[in-house]
Amino acid sequence: MPSPLTKPRPRTPRANFSPSPQEPCFCGSGKPFRDCCGSAKRDRLPPHGVGIVPGFLDPDICRSWITHLHRQPRLPLGTVEAPDRGISHSETTHGGDRITDLVKAGRLRRDIDRRVERAYQDIIAPLRGRRFAWFEYPQVLRYEPGGWYRAHADSEVCSPDGRSWTKGIDRDISLLLYLNDDFQGGELRFLKFRYSHRPRAGDLVFFPSDHRYVHQAEPVKTGLRWVVASWAAFTDEPRVRDQPPPASIML
Ligand SMILES: [Zn+2]
Repeated sequence: MPSPLTKPRPRTPRANFSPSPQEPCFCGSGKPFRDCCGSAKRDRLPPHGVGIVPGFLDPDICRSWITHLHRQPRLPLGTVEAPDRGISHSETTHGGDRITDLVKAGRLRRDIDRRVERAYQDIIAPLRGRRFAWFEYPQVLRYEPGGWYRAHADSEVCSPDGRSWTKGIDRDISLLLYLNDDFQGGELRFLKFRYSHRPRAGDLVFFPSDHRYVHQAEPVKTGLRWVVASWAAFTDEPRVRDQPPPASIML
């Protein structure tokens, strides 16, 4: 079995993924990007790499979790500049870029961790044919009206000129678990694919953490939007750090 800590590699910037409408789609379908993963049609499929499992979580469980979470302490996610880069890392930006609260899971901690672990191990790992080394402690996020999260990639930061991206954290898969849908706005939008997903309670959504999958949580218009977020690393992916992120559960 490969070590969960493969050797860190130098952080080489990757050219900005920016397919033109007429070029062959990156998914290998042979169709032009505009008729495939970059289609503007309303009834299109999710882009290659984005997995959606409706009803992964039972609606009754979603409701009971939210009832508990309403009473839990929460804190606004604050601004932290990545000290070694001088660029805000996607995960830690705030100000106008990200308006959301982190809610303490309390007695749900183990239950949430276990459900998220099952999503990684039973659904995503077999689909991708790879094994996970760890996942980061799932975060419970609460968006009020006006809350949003500006376009970002979960593992990479953009150069100031916008031409290249560099991996800053060892995340290969991003996971979202939606707990409710009684709000307006708040779609999950993948900018490079012109694709939006309207969350439904119980939806599991996952996708690669790199900048091809730059995404935005659109502003919530009414209601509260509840979502659980986590990130995981494959065993066989080269690392950029010599340690897993601090709040990680080893698999
Ligand atoms: Zn495609």
